Amino acid sequence: MADPQRDARHTARMARKKAVIDAAIAAATDERGLLIVITGNGKGKSTSAFGSIARALGHGMKVGVVQFIKSRTDTGEEAFLGKQPGVEWHVTGDGFTWDTQDREQDIATAQNGWAIAARMLADSSYQLVVLDELTYLLSYGYLDSDSVLDALVHRPADQHVIVTGRGASDALIELADTVSIIADEKHAYRAGIKAQPGIDL
Ligand code: ATP
Ligand code: MG
Repeated sequence: MADPQRDARHTARMARKKAVIDAAIAAATDERGLLIVITGNGKGKSTSAFGSIARALGHGMKVGVVQFIKSRTDTGEEAFLGKQPGVEWHVTGDGFTWDTQDREQDIATAQNGWAIAARMLADSSYQLVVLDELTYLLSYGYLDSDSVLDALVHRPADQHVIVTGRGASDALIELADTVSIIADEKHAYRAGIKAQPGIDL
């Protein structure tokens, strides 16, 4: 039903809202590389990082990816994103720690992966670096947390970094510019549905 008074109130309210939003946008003038942490127990952490890779590639950016932990090389993300020009993709894991059951081997693998990541974090030609599942290597103590934080702090000023994985440390969260904690409300796995290509891998 037509309600001219209500329409006028809506217009005035939207105009006030627009003024506030425009002022906030105008005030955000800084430009620099961001450290983004996507953590929490819910699904969507790595998926979010892969979406950002697509965005970055759309802008012609050079992207470096290191997947820690995971050993499988048959994922959709690697098959597609890994072969795009401008992407350098490394899968460095031997699998989850309950798969390998060998702490010494896990530490060696973690350090090999970290060497690749550290090289990217020292090279300004990588405009986005994705460190997928890095958090586990810190929580298990496979990597020295201070060295990792130090490399993040001293990376090129305009380089973006996305770190994913559950249980991000307080220090990493403190250092990050943007932190999203994805909650686990429901997951199909608990209803007996196995990992689905295109969705889970
Ligand atoms: P995704 O890669 O799907 O974005 P994620 O990065 O948030 O997941 P990981 O812990 O890295 O979470 O997930 C690895 C695999 O486990 C994926 O196949 C994912 O679908 C699945 N998974 C993620 N969260 C859960 C959960 N809460 N319960 C069961 N399986 C999960
Ligand atoms: Mg993940």
